[in-house]
Amino acid sequence: MDQSALPPHVLIFPLPFQGPVNSMFKIAELLCLSGFHITILLTDYIYNRLQRHSTFHSRFQNYPWLHVETISDGLQEDHPRSVARIMEVFDSLKSITKKLFKEMLISGGLSSETRRPLTCIIADGALGFVCDVADEIGIPVIYSRTVSPCSLWVFFCLPKLIEADELLFEGNDLDPLIKSVPGMEGFLRRRDLPSWCRSGDLSDPIISILKMEGEENPRARGLILNTFEELERPILSHIRTVCPNLYTIGPQHAHLKTKLAAAATPYSLSSNSLWEEDKSCITWLDAQQSKSVIYVSFGSLTMMTRDQLMEFWHGLVNSGKRFLWVIRPDSVAGKDWESQIPKEISEGTRERGYIVGWAPQEEVLGHPAVGGFLTHSGWNSTLESIAAGVPMICWPYFADQQVNSRYVGEVWKLGLDIKDTCDRAIVEKAVKDLMEVRKEEFLEKANQMAKLAKESVSEGGLSYSNLNRLIEDIRLMSGTTHD
Ligand code: UDP
Repeated sequence: MDQSALPPHVLIFPLPFQGPVNSMFKIAELLCLSGFHITILLTDYIYNRLQRHSTFHSRFQNYPWLHVETISDGLQEDHPRSVARIMEVFDSLKSITKKLFKEMLISGGLSSETRRPLTCIIADGALGFVCDVADEIGIPVIYSRTVSPCSLWVFFCLPKLIEADELLFEGNDLDPLIKSVPGMEGFLRRRDLPSWCRSGDLSDPIISILKMEGEENPRARGLILNTFEELERPILSHIRTVCPNLYTIGPQHAHLKTKLAAAATPYSLSSNSLWEEDKSCITWLDAQQSKSVIYVSFGSLTMMTRDQLMEFWHGLVNSGKRFLWVIRPDSVAGKDWESQIPKEISEGTRERGYIVGWAPQEEVLGHPAVGGFLTHSGWNSTLESIAAGVPMICWPYFADQQVNSRYVGEVWKLGLDIKDTCDRAIVEKAVKDLMEVRKEEFLEKANQMAKLAKESVSEGGLSYSNLNRLIEDIRLMSGTTHD
């Protein structure tokens, strides 16, 4: 077969965690809809979890040109791949997966008679080794960042922050403003810096990784960002000074939903889960009044102590509001909490609450009964909330979440940022404020932003046209033209 007549072939390589996998699957599906051949490269660990808990195989049958390949992350099967041991994941990817990846590309096994050699690779920008390998072999790379652009800009400014001595603060005062992140001078406080910047330890390996990413990301042909221009315009113009070719195509989940609706293809929600989704919560939501429920979820990696769990629980019950809460099976340190639940909170929960181990989140946020989201401010969760027009209470845990929550509370005014505390009285007050006292104000803001998100991914919008530009640029790399 004349391979030059075949469509472009793109390898998509997500970072092996739930959030990045969700985000990169959306890119894969968006490109599939343009007729591209896609190979998604997953670590064995992620692949096995998806096989067990998600519907991705049946959904991907809609895309005959989408293939899944697997690669080892180099860790033992029973390694927890948790935040506490995240450096082991990065080290292993760099020392073991990098070699396997190179062998995979050199072997040419990803192409076949009906599949051309790779046109380009879209990899998570945290997988810095991809550019090294692809450069050697001569395959173009486009990076995709699944963290927020506002936090990415802080990461890019780390050398400036270090030079200005802003990461080495004495004492516990976290409220002074940070001055060396252009565009954030007026509102970014020490406490809003990404969690890793608080240690005061500049030799922390994660700081080196972040600094390296800042140097490596501009090496790619472009950077895909899961955001929309209307949300982060000022910061995007700063990022463009370092990486001029940005493809802002988000919110990606909303973009995919819009494209599938236009193609009259049913949109399957949240089916890339690494845990079993408990759909019974949708039946529970169906029985609740409009905008009466606060949804509580801290994502796929957050860990909390038993004390923090109890503070949240008391705060939620004392607020008197209805709540749907995701308590991931591995998210509370120690197991004893389940047998020690005080009577007053178990009664309050029976009356007004519903708890699941993992929820179909996109569907939950789109449900008419949901009026607020108590979140850890992961970037996917934040965008899913923004697209659904749901105001947020933010309790960030790590990575980009401290910056995201500052933006939600102070810049976009889409909710309240309660970072660094979860005392029951504070949680109770925040829930009452969001769901009752300031409900109209937050809902109005959230609806305005949701409208802008929707417009951006619709025909004529900026995310829509940026996706078209990405598609055309990849076609040009393969020498194929628009058909
Ligand atoms: N998620 C889900 N069900 C849950 C909790 C989370 O489907 O019960 C999904 C959520 O929709 C989001 C992802 O898991 O797409 C979490 O990504 P995020 O970036 O928000 O946080 P992370 O887990 O990476 O900290």
